[in-house]
Amino acid sequence: MSQVVVVGAGLAGAKTVEGLRERGYDGRVVLLGAETERPYERPPLSKGYLQGSDEREGAFVHPPDWYATHDVDLRLGTPVASIDLGGRDVVDGSGTRTGWDHLVLATGSEPRRLDVPGSGLEGVVHLRTLDDSDRLRALLGAAPRVVVVGGGWIGLEVAAAARAAGCAVSVLVRDPLPLARVLGPELATMFAELHRANGVDLRTRTDVSEIVADGAGTHVGAVALADGTVIDADLVVVGIGAAPRVDLARSAGLRVESGVVVDAHLRASDPHVLAVGDIARAHHPFLGTHVRVEHWANALHQPSTAAATIVGADEPYDRLPYFFTDQFDLGMEYVGYVGAHGYDEVVVRGDLANRELVAFWRRAGRVVAGMNVNVWDVVDDVQALIRSRAVIDRDRLSDPDVPLGDLL
Ligand code: NAP
Repeated sequence: MSQVVVVGAGLAGAKTVEGLRERGYDGRVVLLGAETERPYERPPLSKGYLQGSDEREGAFVHPPDWYATHDVDLRLGTPVASIDLGGRDVVDGSGTRTGWDHLVLATGSEPRRLDVPGSGLEGVVHLRTLDDSDRLRALLGAAPRVVVVGGGWIGLEVAAAARAAGCAVSVLVRDPLPLARVLGPELATMFAELHRANGVDLRTRTDVSEIVADGAGTHVGAVALADGTVIDADLVVVGIGAAPRVDLARSAGLRVESGVVVDAHLRASDPHVLAVGDIARAHHPFLGTHVRVEHWANALHQPSTAAATIVGADEPYDRLPYFFTDQFDLGMEYVGYVGAHGYDEVVVRGDLANRELVAFWRRAGRVVAGMNVNVWDVVDDVQALIRSRAVIDRDRLSDPDVPLGDLL
């Protein structure tokens, strides 16, 4: 009987085994995870669950008995130590070898650690796992003075949760604006204003030089900045990005270029190995380039393609990158890809000041990405504009009276 081994029991791993069973794969399926929690989704960890509005149970991908009823051998607390491509097996931490006919790598990302003196003090935390979210949620309940290092998605979502919990919050950003590299200055300014309007002390062009201990010497007491400023803090949340976990793939001899390089069917340089989720640097048929996307939607949808490839179906992955956020009273969805070619302009339909709009990133008159802010049910229309590659009249694009569906 054939066997598929999936390494990594996060959302992408769980959806891979689900996809295999949905597509009628009747061989053995083994899902190996380093953590002891069964697979869960991460968006609630920095949003609803952290804020106390979502139940913990809602984060899990499947009910506890799902794996057994679908004949999936789920082995938690079982980190994989190495992959043997020639021998077609993996070796876990206890030395057990598990053979495979197809191997799917879904190892996700590792949060980057802050490398300054004092970053090992108690009260300096990262947010990646459900366990991290449990601890942070409990800490926020005591309404500490919070300093968030990094103005990316984790930083801003945690800042919103901390303000909702009644904390005094400072966010430290190296760039002139948070999210500027992802969104460009136009929309990054909107996020900066949102946070300041909600009482966040947002400090830009600033670098952390040291985490300073309190009187007892073991716990954080303050954060020192490169310009000499010192901010008192009881809790420091570090959200300075994540790195794909590609060591296993690299050591095995697979092609890795800031991600495991895979084709549109998610096959790695050894075609019996596939990669999904954060680590997959996948060739994208519509975008015509390899892209690696560190977002939930990618981990949710790529596995179905991986399962299709394993059962012999021809279904390249060509969904456009998509992500969303909820911060204070702002909800948004972003779809598309600006990439290395950049964009010429952002066209806004709606009201930036009231934060109710659809923004379009355009290159040579064509929409390459779009973001709806507190406007809903437009993602399909925005995707259609992107996929059409049509040059859209600027005035019609910005005019809320012209339905998006009429632009093509
Ligand atoms: P992120 O979104 O990549 O943002 C990290 C930010 O930290 C960047 O702005 C980066 O600036 C900055 N940074 C890097 N090194 C720094 C340093 N030493 N000091 C201060 N700032 C520094 O990563 P994240 O917010 O940590 O999130 C981790 C992962 O989870 C990412 O893959 C993210 O996409 C994902 N996530 C997504 C969502 C969502 O989709 N809503 C929510 C939460 C998490 P530079 O650009 O200048 O390096």
